[in-house]
Amino acid sequence: MTLDEKIQKFKEWQFARSAYVMALGVVELDKMTIAPRGGDAYRDERIAYLSGELYSLSTKKEILDLFKELKDDEHVDFVIRRQCQLYYEEAMKNLVVPKEEFVSYQKLANESYGAWIQAKEKSDYSLFEPYLKQIVEAKKKMYSYRRKKENLYDQMLNDYEPGMNQEKYDAFFTAVRDRLVPLIQKVQATKQIEDGFLYKHYDVEKQKRFMDELLNYLHFDREWGYQNETEHPFTTWICENDVRITTKYLEDNVISAIFSTIHESGHARYEHQCSPDCDGNVLSEGISSGMHESQSRLVENYLGRTKAFWVNNYPKLQEIFPENLKDITLDEFMDAVNVGKPGLVRTEADELTYPLHIYIRYEIEKGLFNGTYTTENLNEVWNKMYKEILGVDVPGDKEGILQDVHWSSGDFGYFPTYALGSAYSAQFMEAMRKDINVEKELEENHFEGIMDWLKEHIHQYGCLYTPEEVMLKATGKPFDVNIYLDYLEEKYSKLYRL
Ligand code: ZN
Repeated sequence: MTLDEKIQKFKEWQFARSAYVMALGVVELDKMTIAPRGGDAYRDERIAYLSGELYSLSTKKEILDLFKELKDDEHVDFVIRRQCQLYYEEAMKNLVVPKEEFVSYQKLANESYGAWIQAKEKSDYSLFEPYLKQIVEAKKKMYSYRRKKENLYDQMLNDYEPGMNQEKYDAFFTAVRDRLVPLIQKVQATKQIEDGFLYKHYDVEKQKRFMDELLNYLHFDREWGYQNETEHPFTTWICENDVRITTKYLEDNVISAIFSTIHESGHARYEHQCSPDCDGNVLSEGISSGMHESQSRLVENYLGRTKAFWVNNYPKLQEIFPENLKDITLDEFMDAVNVGKPGLVRTEADELTYPLHIYIRYEIEKGLFNGTYTTENLNEVWNKMYKEILGVDVPGDKEGILQDVHWSSGDFGYFPTYALGSAYSAQFMEAMRKDINVEKELEENHFEGIMDWLKEHIHQYGCLYTPEEVMLKATGKPFDVNIYLDYLEEKYSKLYRL
């Protein structure tokens, strides 16, 4: 076969793969939003079949040989080489695990998820502990097949955020803890901000009316984007011009759906603005968790929680809910949506306290794999750390160690990317401000100006480059946690007049 024929063969393979990925994506989305539960068993069997076919397609010897050849051939275009490299790495991670082992892990993960749901309902960690123990052991075994010299937890961290390891995360989280814990204590000791009006009764149908206006402001164009509702908001994408986001409305909280929508629209925009080279292939799927989260948090916190953003939007919200908001000024509203206050639940945490929720999870995960902690009485470790770091008393396991789903399915190494993403955004914003007047764009209803900057400097690349390379390209310097911590210190000192 000539090189051109090989490339042609690779492109045909990639197209076939994209058809499976699309089908699975649509079925999964349907399952999580509108599909009746009665069809679960039927659907799950077909999903398993399609997933199996996709697995075979992606791991057959012939195609692996092709990846191997193309990824290292300098005559091949850079985009194709990068695609082949990523497909090859992914296939190798899967192939090293014996099939029986893989199947039995899937079964364990299903059981563990069920046990977690029950344990959470009863707020009793002891019901989940035996499963967590098995999941940790199974994960250790699965990673050991890779026979790499790196520490197992380092490998897990690297899977979610290429280039990261414990040494780098330790430095990151130590800085976060050392600067944010005292800041939070100062905030706690001063006069608190009145935000009770955000939690009055807000009619859901009226909230939806506002959401339409907000999506227009965000230029979330219905030509490529669609929104509906779910229990837990998420973003998924079929291709660059078919991106779906979901939200959840609460009757006694007007900002929950608003900020989750702004957040998810940031994820959606990332997918929509990838270069056409990324569409329908691994370059739009493999973007690191931290990079993706940086784009949602940037829109949510660094744009969505600023006065410039609300100059246009707040009068509309006031008009829809005069009974609750007519006497509340824009400044009072801005203070309220930026309140920083330690709490128990990560998903409800504010911008200031959020990274410490992640720090606690990181320390526990690290301890589980390095032998400092065992699963036994891990809920007590959790509660002790919440008291020490955030100053809150955990009343029960439901609001404590059982609150998140991640560990039940063995997703270790994922949590830290949430905190890293927020920190990346600070550095991206600093770079953006050198090129454009962000406040002016927001006030003048020119959201596209900001989105264009993100497209040019971040989105278009997909995962053509590593997170470190994208950071360097977009900001001209390596990642620096102090930019993020300076931003938080400045913002909260001003807000609470410290
Ligand atoms: Zn997110």
